[in-house]
Amino acid sequence: MSRKKVIAANWKMYKTPAEAAAFTTAFLPLVAGHTRDEIVLHPSPLLVAGVAWQLKGSNVAVGAQNLHWAAEGAYTGETSAAQILGVGATHVLIGHSERRQYFGETDETVNKKLKATLAAKLIPIVCIGEVLAEREAGQTETVLRRQVEGALADITPAEAAPIVIAYEPVWAIGTGKTATPEMAQEAHLVVRSTVAELLDDATASAVRILYGGSVKPENATSLMSQPDIDGALVGGASLDATSFSKIVKY
Ligand code: PEP
Repeated sequence: MSRKKVIAANWKMYKTPAEAAAFTTAFLPLVAGHTRDEIVLHPSPLLVAGVAWQLKGSNVAVGAQNLHWAAEGAYTGETSAAQILGVGATHVLIGHSERRQYFGETDETVNKKLKATLAAKLIPIVCIGEVLAEREAGQTETVLRRQVEGALADITPAEAAPIVIAYEPVWAIGTGKTATPEMAQEAHLVVRSTVAELLDDATASAVRILYGGSVKPENATSLMSQPDIDGALVGGASLDATSFSKIVKY
């Protein structure tokens, strides 16, 4: 089955509005006409609307880095799916390891956020991955299965079609250490077979599974050529327009 790859930038809490505008001005000509892959930028929350406006009509989409599962309400500082959709974004990152580590997100909150995202017809990118101690203890497979099961709880195959999963070994995020293409492929197979067990084979073969963790122009081709790697979620190397365009064109 052929799956269109997703090359997604996670800008985390970097860039002022002026820096984001300078990025899009430089980046759009570098990827003009590139339709092979789905390209998405995830700026920090206050920048999403402006970046969406700058990207309007282009081949580059914009997403949020987080959302709240409630439709609306007294949740100071939070953003709803309808608000994200309303400013022209199409994608949402859910359960990034930094959200799990610093903001108390769990498999349960990931599941609630995933349901809200699907209900709003936004494309979710659900982040999972083991920490170093778990890998060293031989628990990678168990952790990935638990995270996928938690994320997909009560979700049907029909609802799951748009879901994108990002496998991001936490020890590889922002550290310069990358999983080898073979290690990543092995983990992606675990994720895909878990989706098959929980949902069905058709959903598992359609779901796109991205790799994230120190992806750079130099390692993108070897990672992207693995059969179960369907794109990349890129932090550090997505902050520079030239570097991210090289990853897009791996
Ligand atoms: C990320 O933030 O999701 C990420 C993978 O970061 P980096 O590419 O910097 O490791």
